[in-house]
Amino acid sequence: MKKERPAMSHFSGYYKKTRQERINLLQQARHLAPDSFNILSQDQNLPETIAGKMTENHLGTFALPFSLLPEILIDGQEYSVPMVTEEPSVVAAASFGAKIISKSGGFTTTIHNRLMIGQVALYDVPDMEEATKAILQQKRSILDKANAAHPSIVKRGGGARQLSVESKEEFLILYLEVDVQEAMGANILNNMLEAIKDDLEALTQGQALMGILSNYATQSLVTACCRIRISSLATNSALAQKTAKKLVLASKLAQLDPYRAATHNKGIFNGIDAVVIATGNDWRAIEAGAHAYASRDGQYRGLSIWEIEGDDLVGQITLPLPIASVGGSIGLNPKVQTAFDILDQPKARQLASIVASVGLCQNFAALRALVTSGIQQGHMKLHAKSLAMLAGATETEIDKVAQLLRQEKHSNLETAQAILKKIRQE
Ligand code: NDP
Repeated sequence: MKKERPAMSHFSGYYKKTRQERINLLQQARHLAPDSFNILSQDQNLPETIAGKMTENHLGTFALPFSLLPEILIDGQEYSVPMVTEEPSVVAAASFGAKIISKSGGFTTTIHNRLMIGQVALYDVPDMEEATKAILQQKRSILDKANAAHPSIVKRGGGARQLSVESKEEFLILYLEVDVQEAMGANILNNMLEAIKDDLEALTQGQALMGILSNYATQSLVTACCRIRISSLATNSALAQKTAKKLVLASKLAQLDPYRAATHNKGIFNGIDAVVIATGNDWRAIEAGAHAYASRDGQYRGLSIWEIEGDDLVGQITLPLPIASVGGSIGLNPKVQTAFDILDQPKARQLASIVASVGLCQNFAALRALVTSGIQQGHMKLHAKSLAMLAGATETEIDKVAQLLRQEKHSNLETAQAILKKIRQE
């Protein structure tokens, strides 16, 4: 028997509170540091002194909503998860999904490994077999040379762990696997790969084309699972069974049809990207690796699978998540530091578990909506507010315009403008 969790209390009706009330509640629930509280209250973002040093030709900063998934249960621990996204229904859907899944015991995760892979591609190699042999014979000295190029990561307990060689048409490719500890490791890998290039040319009599980290991080796989009591999917048991069955069919469709798989995975990335961005990680890197992984057997497929096991609907997602807790812009951006504080300063592995779980949670919420009421109902509820704002509604008018707009058959900008005109004439 699964243990029932107590009813959630801290965050009930969270979405109805004012921004400052939400910040206060978060502070009470997660004991934020005073700095984080001030950064949130004053909505502090990247200062010009930092932003101006991050990129070329800096003109200013570009803001997106920084929101909160109030409660999600992962590996027995309760988290509040910061999410950065401009898409109206994402946070609401994740919060809804997390509520249902948390009641059934939440998410459990497995970190399969945490090594980053880099590659040196060689060409004009006269004898591939001899070259491969020569590299493998010098394996230890190549690993030592790689480590000597970035000794600080070795001192931190990481370093180059393994290498392998493969020939692909005219290329001989060396793959280096590195323990990058808390970093994403782009610079560590690139330093190491550049340092071993000359030795590899000498050993193979070939030419090094490039040495670079690979974003196909197959040695950084993370799995998140959840087991939802089917009875919790609807108050009516027949409807709950039907919803579970349709969710399983939706999962199967995403395995078979790439057109559906792309949208299925986009829904997963609605959650993943929002957390990855909030925590200052490189979302292009995460997307590139995960989409490559989704095509690993030659066909692009959904990253998650849903099945019925007895009385439960069981969801599972596995994907590469080389998430970092240091490096890049993580230490520079005050909002990112606040995001880490909200998450209780997770290490890289723990953050990867959170990211994978939010992805699966988002997927559940999207599929459930799709196979029941349809995605538009929830989406339009929030989109109506955006349309009201676009139509020019002031803060006091937005909710009224959005509410009237939702009753209309054609909920578009033109209708929002007409409603606004009408209420201003009343
Ligand atoms: P950084 O070089 O900014 O940070 C990593 C460094 O942090 C390490 O080399 C290490 O340096 C230091 N560090 C401090 N504490 C730790 C710890 N506990 N564990 C590990 N390292 C620690 O970033 P990354 O090399 O991780 O690269 C990420 C950045 O690279 C991102 O901004 C990304 O966008 C960008 N990038 C991505 C590419 C890609 O995805 N293909 C390619 C190129 C760049 P030390 O030990 O010397 O103090």
